[in-house]
Amino acid sequence: SDKDTLTLNYQPKFSFATGQIVGMEALARWPHPELGMISPLQFTGIAEKTLLINPYTKWLLRKAIKQLASWRNQGYPIALALNFSMKNFTDPSVIETLFGLLKEFNVPPELLEIEITESALSTNLSAVADILRYLQEKRIRIAIDDFGTGLSSLNYLFELPVDVLKVDKIFVQSMTTNSAAEAILRSAVTLGHELNLEVVAEGVETEEQYNLLKKIGCDTGQGYFIARPMPEELATAWLESKKSHLIFSKTGVS
Ligand code: C2E
Ligand code: CA
Ligand code: CA
Repeated sequence: SDKDTLTLNYQPKFSFATGQIVGMEALARWPHPELGMISPLQFTGIAEKTLLINPYTKWLLRKAIKQLASWRNQGYPIALALNFSMKNFTDPSVIETLFGLLKEFNVPPELLEIEITESALSTNLSAVADILRYLQEKRIRIAIDDFGTGLSSLNYLFELPVDVLKVDKIFVQSMTTNSAAEAILRSAVTLGHELNLEVVAEGVETEEQYNLLKKIGCDTGQGYFIARPMPEELATAWLESKKSHLIFSKTGVS
């Protein structure tokens, strides 16, 4: 069935301060016989009916949490970020499954980060507020994905229990050539730190972007400059290849 072919890629998240790998983000992939691996962005219609609803979500959750447990058992002290759609939050059985899996694989909840896009919050704030509070009470971390693109109002930042701001890659990719994009990124870092949040930059593709983000005090990052999303075997081999889980060797990016 389709469920058996749907799979996950993993993209590393690193710390700008230490150069350490601090986590992985699970990203869904649909292998297509002619087109190769398809991103969720290309199967949005199907995704609404499949990956975003119960059996697929639960199956992907099992796969991801099992992988996290396996990395932990191999000695990699990393966290795992999962992308949730609105439907996932409003289905109690998905949340139930999530906690069942953490228990089954003996994974501490604080290693799990759930990402929700800022735009999803724009129309559903009250629908998710209670469940997000519940998740945070249980020590699961909450990240706002695509920060800066979804909402004109920031009121959710004091109404919701947020732990992480994930600044959209559009700002990262423009920041070295557009001073407004850089200013927005600096403000996001300041705002995040004022609120005691971790600030993540996504879409870091160049050394120049990397250096600038490090300079302005961004906490963590992801992007092709360090690593692309990889199938699980490759992701594991990549982790193994990083001595002491550092992305830099003495000579530079390794
Ligand atoms: P996202 O959560 O914002 O994920 C980041 C996207 O940026 C990923 O696209 C990733 O492959 C891509 N990316 C990473 N580094 C770079 C870079 O340096 N440069 C550029 N240009 N792109 C980079 P992907 O994997 O195609 O996923 C697209 C979106 O689909 C995700 O955006 C997320 O919103 C959604 N998605 C992925 N997996 C799942 C899932 O399991 N469940 C749900 N509900 N949504 C998912
Ligand atoms: Ca994400
Ligand atoms: Ca994003």
